[in-house]
Amino acid sequence: MLLAEIISVGTELLFGEIVDSNAAFLARELGARGVTLHRKTVLGDNLERLTAAIHTALERADLVILGGGLGPTDDDLTREAIAAALNETPHEDPALLAWLEGLYTARGRTMPQINRKQAWLIPSAQALPNPVGTAPGWFVTTGGKMIVALPGPPREMQRMWQAEVLPRLPLPSRALVHTTVHTQGIGESNIAELLGDLTRTANPSVATYARKTGVDVRVAASADTDAQARALLAPVLDEVRAQLRTWTWGEDTQTLAGAVSAALGGRTLGVIEAGSAGALCTLLADEPGFLDAAVTQDHRRLITLGLTPVTLHDAGLVSAQAALDLAAGAREHLGAEVGLAVVVQASGEGAGHAHAALCTPDLQRSVSVNWPGDPAQIRERAAVAALALAYR
Ligand code: ATP
Ligand code: MG
Repeated sequence: MLLAEIISVGTELLFGEIVDSNAAFLARELGARGVTLHRKTVLGDNLERLTAAIHTALERADLVILGGGLGPTDDDLTREAIAAALNETPHEDPALLAWLEGLYTARGRTMPQINRKQAWLIPSAQALPNPVGTAPGWFVTTGGKMIVALPGPPREMQRMWQAEVLPRLPLPSRALVHTTVHTQGIGESNIAELLGDLTRTANPSVATYARKTGVDVRVAASADTDAQARALLAPVLDEVRAQLRTWTWGEDTQTLAGAVSAALGGRTLGVIEAGSAGALCTLLADEPGFLDAAVTQDHRRLITLGLTPVTLHDAGLVSAQAALDLAAGAREHLGAEVGLAVVVQASGEGAGHAHAALCTPDLQRSVSVNWPGDPAQIRERAAVAALALAYR
């Protein structure tokens, strides 16, 4: 078993000015490759605390991955901290220095003196070339353990992880396979009840995640070979699929909007949105079959799009009947075979309600929903509720 820890370095991460997406990326990568991750740490640009963190992480883990702090300025301290934690002295590497100076010469500039420390190495470190920036990474092997230092900018970090770090890691040869079943309209606790003992085994594992589009159920298995892992996964996955069939709209990379598009079966879809600021159109934008849309809160305009004055007077715009009027109106006035409408009231006081309706040549149905949340969340949830109405 290869045991890893991640240390993200940067005061802006610590204070929440930027979100630590690098650690999330690395955690997914490690998990997918069978590396066990026990800890993620975020630290500010402080030499003492960083040195201590590297020291203790090395006592616990086989692999310590550091992100950030490889720039040229005084607050970029990752190299200094690794050297201090290992009690080694950095030296300027002539080959690295020539490479760095070459980068500047190629752009017709002279390398600032402060960049010289990006050419540092310690005896136990190898430089990791950076194809998209000036900060080389470090790959350190010490006492049977490894330290990897990568630059903070996600584009650089990800490129170097793929091209330079992965080939150097003694990755476990176990195969990991997984499938995620996407559901709608059923909560996590109900799913846990339905699946019962299935959720209590470690391999295959069955885990639930609440997403904007409903609850995802991830079934994963690992074994020595891909075929063995698949054989282990299959019966549990079949059982999960069978239990959740009523609520399932897709698997793995499928999207809810894609499921709606598939359900159209070649028919065209027209959308009318009132109060959701185009949230539904945004989700459907790239889907085949999505024909046209009207996004407006203007009552007069909505009346030309199918809202009847009687509905407006008796039930108001944010009503199931208004959504049904507009779903029918989407067919008639937008020239689509299937109409989908959503009407949303986001109060701005942390709560909102919405009605969505679907109209096809054979059926009409609507759904009403209430949630807490800020207006942007409510608009998005309303759009998802409309899609949920239309995928089957
Ligand atoms: P540089 O040479 O650009 O200074 P660096 O290795 O010193 O690289 P940082 O200074 O720590 O990296 O971060 C540079 C930028 O990279 C940050 O301003 C931020 O935009 C991004 N970044 C750093 N760490 C992370 C992280 N963990 N997740 C997401 N983005 C990050
Ligand atoms: Mg920096």
